[in-house]
Amino acid sequence: MPLVIRGNTTLDRLKRQICASGRQFYEGVLDAVIPPRCNFCEAPLETAKLAGLCSVCEQRLVAEDRQRCLICGQQSDHLAAKSPGCPKCPPKRLRFDSVSPLGTFENELREAVYRIKQPGTYALAESLAKLLWTRHRDKFLKLEVDVVVPVPMYWSRRIRRGMNNPEVLARRLASKLGTNVAAGLLVRRRNTLSQLDLSPNKRFENLRHAMRPAAGYVLSSANVLLVDDVMTTGATCDEAARVLKKFGAARVDVAVIARTEP
Ligand SMILES: [Zn+2]
Ligand SMILES: [Zn+2]
Repeated sequence: MPLVIRGNTTLDRLKRQICASGRQFYEGVLDAVIPPRCNFCEAPLETAKLAGLCSVCEQRLVAEDRQRCLICGQQSDHLAAKSPGCPKCPPKRLRFDSVSPLGTFENELREAVYRIKQPGTYALAESLAKLLWTRHRDKFLKLEVDVVVPVPMYWSRRIRRGMNNPEVLARRLASKLGTNVAAGLLVRRRNTLSQLDLSPNKRFENLRHAMRPAAGYVLSSANVLLVDDVMTTGATCDEAARVLKKFGAARVDVAVIARTEP
């Protein structure tokens, strides 16, 4: 029997919001019982902070952000009022609908993204997801997300890392949205070359047909929130969005912790 993920009714969304509020209450109680530490610098926290970070780290991780292009997610002062996109958008039309990053891949945020690729950094990944949620809460709610999908990692890479950070981020955002996460919906067909060693054009080529939908799911006009830790050219999310839309997704919007700037 396939699991059908379809566009939700307003009542479905309302029910899930109520459940999410309940979960947030219990997390608050747990923080009050076990005195928390900052998940980035490990300084003791005098009061329980929502994102598990001290004020200094929180400020550094959520640095001042300039206007961003809705399509490619890069910072731009030259956003056209009417036509979407910016001068930095790749010439090829990207197949996802928007990108919402927490910030630019630099300074503390860059270090945090590298850190959550290591084992045992679950709490920091959760903190970053909470900051991402706080920054884009209104937009995420307006998207009427039906399912949250993490960008898949090839199985051998997942074992080597011992940490699947896109999945941790996706689970946290889904819990905030009060919606489902489908961690196994996209599958990596093969272990692609490291994107870092390739030119922008080669990156798109490297990812072509690198993913497929898993058996046992049906996307019926669902709005998907696709989640990854960092976006460079956008090639990985572009390929994931192509597969998801071919598979029936109505929209694919992307949430990432950090966006690189050229
Ligand atoms: Zn700190
Ligand atoms: Zn752009």
